[in-house]
Amino acid sequence: MAIHNPPIIRPADDRDALAEAVAALAAGELVGMPTETVYGLAADATNGEAVARIYAAKGRPSFNPLIAHVADLAAAERLVSFDPVSRRLAEAFWPGPLTLVLPKRADAGVSDLATAGLDTLAVRMPSHPAAHALLLAFGRPVAAPSANRSGHVSATTAAHVAADLGSSVSIVLDAGPSHVGVESTIVAMTDSGLVLLRAGGLPREEIEAVAGVRLQVIDLADPEAPTAPGQLASHYAPGAMVRLDVEDVRPGEALLAFGPGLPRGASDAAVTINLSPRGDLIEAAARLFSALRELDGKAATIAVAPIPATGLGEAIVDRLRRAAAPRP
Ligand code: AMP
Ligand code: MG
Repeated sequence: MAIHNPPIIRPADDRDALAEAVAALAAGELVGMPTETVYGLAADATNGEAVARIYAAKGRPSFNPLIAHVADLAAAERLVSFDPVSRRLAEAFWPGPLTLVLPKRADAGVSDLATAGLDTLAVRMPSHPAAHALLLAFGRPVAAPSANRSGHVSATTAAHVAADLGSSVSIVLDAGPSHVGVESTIVAMTDSGLVLLRAGGLPREEIEAVAGVRLQVIDLADPEAPTAPGQLASHYAPGAMVRLDVEDVRPGEALLAFGPGLPRGASDAAVTINLSPRGDLIEAAARLFSALRELDGKAATIAVAPIPATGLGEAIVDRLRRAAAPRP
């Protein structure tokens, strides 16, 4: 893969720059994408390793689900199932700063890493012409969190993106400062109705007027309530027990391996998946959720070989630790 150092900042309205950005996305590289809310760190949402590079570049210690950006409603309908209310919201507010969390279609083709293993998917159609042009030309959904390192403020100019993310981004499309400057409003359609997951660029009252119902709001003061947007639904965990840092596999366990060496007793495992035989954390992250799903149900316990908690390994280990935690 081409490494550009420093990342190339190019005018978003330049046709050659757009073509280069599309080529970078197709090659699994990261692109700084201007949107009306903030600059996004964009990757092909259907490519697990490209999505893993987003987490690696941001230095996020955990995987949280990402928003899939699309050019039009037809593209969104290929990814998620709309109910009548969410369709009305999409028709009223797209393109614009509204993200809808909806049931993911089985044939969506979006990487499990982009949804952090959830059966729901957050989708949005940005109104920024540069984002729209990129999404239309690329023709596939683009996963994009804000283009800043974890813990830093969201980037609202191309120079911020370049300064914060450096050479992990192949190209930054420069369309000047973002207009809205705050993130999109996130609404989820759940079994108990419409829930506001994050306040943002689109006021809640406008959403309620179109939906014809009140939005349920997560009470952050309630200790039982989810404490962060997205947490509401981010409880993906395998049904099997999970054992970490396993050096001795017990007969009949499902083995989740990593790297060239296998733990003792590996040959007695009921089934083995190696996240990355060559010990590559990007490859391992890309495979993590589908591997957990595949092993789940094949054995009562999933034995996980040691994984280095460095770089992207920190987020992988964080997710496995949550999966191993005792459940109510
Ligand atoms: P950002 O990428 O920084 O704009 O943040 C995206 C937000 O959307 C995070 O707070 C996520 O937790 C939330 N989100 C994305 N996908 C889902 C989902 N499937 N269910 C619930 N929340 C989600
Ligand atoms: Mg952010």
